[in-house]
Amino acid sequence: MSFRLLTAGLAAALLALFAADAPKTYPTGYADTEFLPGGKWRVHDDSRPRPPVVAPGTASAPERPGKAPSDAVVLFDGTDLSHWVQRKRGGVTLPPAWKVENGYMEVAPGTGSHFTKEKFGDVQLHIEWATPAKVERSSQGRGNSGVLLMGLYEIQVLDSYDNVSYADGQAGSIYGQYPPLVNASRKPGEWQTYDIVFEAPRFAGGKVVKPAFVTVFHNGVLLHNRKEMMGPMRHKKATKYDPHDAQLPLLLQAHGNPVRYRNIWARRLNLTYP
Ligand code: MG
Repeated sequence: MSFRLLTAGLAAALLALFAADAPKTYPTGYADTEFLPGGKWRVHDDSRPRPPVVAPGTASAPERPGKAPSDAVVLFDGTDLSHWVQRKRGGVTLPPAWKVENGYMEVAPGTGSHFTKEKFGDVQLHIEWATPAKVERSSQGRGNSGVLLMGLYEIQVLDSYDNVSYADGQAGSIYGQYPPLVNASRKPGEWQTYDIVFEAPRFAGGKVVKPAFVTVFHNGVLLHNRKEMMGPMRHKKATKYDPHDAQLPLLLQAHGNPVRYRNIWARRLNLTYP
């Protein structure tokens, strides 16, 4: 073997040794893969926009509320009702009047439903609630309130623990339309959670062109999976859509029972993909 061949061999061996130690590089994406259906982006396309960063919050437990993610509108953090107004029957708007203490708000006697000042369309909503620990009355008279998306589309709040009422009116029902898939109620007085994804209806030319859809988790248990809503909440009547604004306030219903709420936050959703 010539001296030249020997040095070349040594160099190659050394290079191989260094290459084995060098960190493996991973491409951030590709520009030569096949196109996905639609022809806009390639599979693993390196030029496809990365999603915005959101710092997640913390989960809730009955003994303590969680924290909102960084891009949420915090509607009630346990201290004040600055994000809320009261609306009496007839549409008169008044200052908020529900009781605030110990980190929660409570429906006060003789007061109206409370609306957010902010308006929402497509939204992810987290809300925690507790029906009165002291069990009084029955059926719809026990721990009744409600979360009305856009002030119109109700997810029922009710004490449905060992309390028989009509299926499409129990806790987590799309009131007057669909019962929840299961009854995941905690006992009266205990804190419960709703995590809701709501797609607002779309209207054109005085007609509904896309109905509302809702997904609901109750205490982490699925109640509705992108269920198409029939229209706004009605009592003892079938419903239908009437055109309305693209964004409207959220409503918490006053129904004569001292139901409590805490840790309410909402994320405005952009459901289109780049
Ligand atoms: Mg109700």
